[in-house]
Amino acid sequence: MSDHHHHRARKRFGQNFLHDAGVIHRILRAIHAREGERVLEIGPGQGALTEGLLDSGAQLDVIELDRDLIPILNAKFAAEPRFQLHQGDALKFDFASLDPAPHSLRVVGNLPYNISTPLIFHLLNNAALIRDMHFMLQKEVVERLAAGPGGKDWGRLSIMVQYHCRVEHLFNVGPGAFNPPPKIDSAIVRLVPHAVLPHPAKDHRLLENVVREAFNQRRKTLRNTLKALLSADEIEAAGVDGSLRPEQLDLAAFVRLADRLAEQPNAA
Ligand code: SAM
Repeated sequence: MSDHHHHRARKRFGQNFLHDAGVIHRILRAIHAREGERVLEIGPGQGALTEGLLDSGAQLDVIELDRDLIPILNAKFAAEPRFQLHQGDALKFDFASLDPAPHSLRVVGNLPYNISTPLIFHLLNNAALIRDMHFMLQKEVVERLAAGPGGKDWGRLSIMVQYHCRVEHLFNVGPGAFNPPPKIDSAIVRLVPHAVLPHPAKDHRLLENVVREAFNQRRKTLRNTLKALLSADEIEAAGVDGSLRPEQLDLAAFVRLADRLAEQPNAA
């Protein structure tokens, strides 16, 4: 065996490689890629998921940051014309450069935990290209993504992701499925961008502002936390009880607040 088959997992790249065949198959079944589909894998590592994705007959692009993994991936998969390897940072990748048909791209990845939130936001900026996403994430993050109003998990991440996507927490994966085992539990999540937004905001940036302000101090009432943006009267006019705390509001209520803000003459 040549040297490049012995890759030592690197912590700074968030490398925890899947080695449990049962878990790998369960993930591949959940994704259920088909012949001719466009699939993008983020962080293929040593190819634990890549092999099954290619076997499905899909056209597969992969983005891997660690240069040392490139020869390993090429040795395994470059002979397959449906395989395309991109070396680089997924956070900077231009997804439109893959030129997928609208709502066609299927994005998958056992993500490095340190980049999962910014990466999801980067992908949501390109939601119109994406059919669905399947990710392995920290279980805590999946619980926040899938949360509903009223609990401690409901916050900025839940609201901004659910604005764009339907979220399904599919199943949990313990540390033993990985080499090396991470110190945390993981879970698989499915995100499906809405064909039509259920609660479209007049200005997406204003929704971001309201949600950020509201959750900056999640124990305070909305009347208090939103003081700099909206008066008590404006909050009432949006049909929201200003004495509630942010975690008690659903997405539709946050959108009503953002749309109120959009009506202010100096809103920007
Ligand atoms: N998919 C493989 C598996 O399941 O065994 C590897 C998963 S490992 C948790 C995360 C992978 O993402 C590593 O291969 C790592 O080098 C890669 N990675 C880390 N940061 C990245 C980034 N910014 N862009 C692309 N890939 C990245």
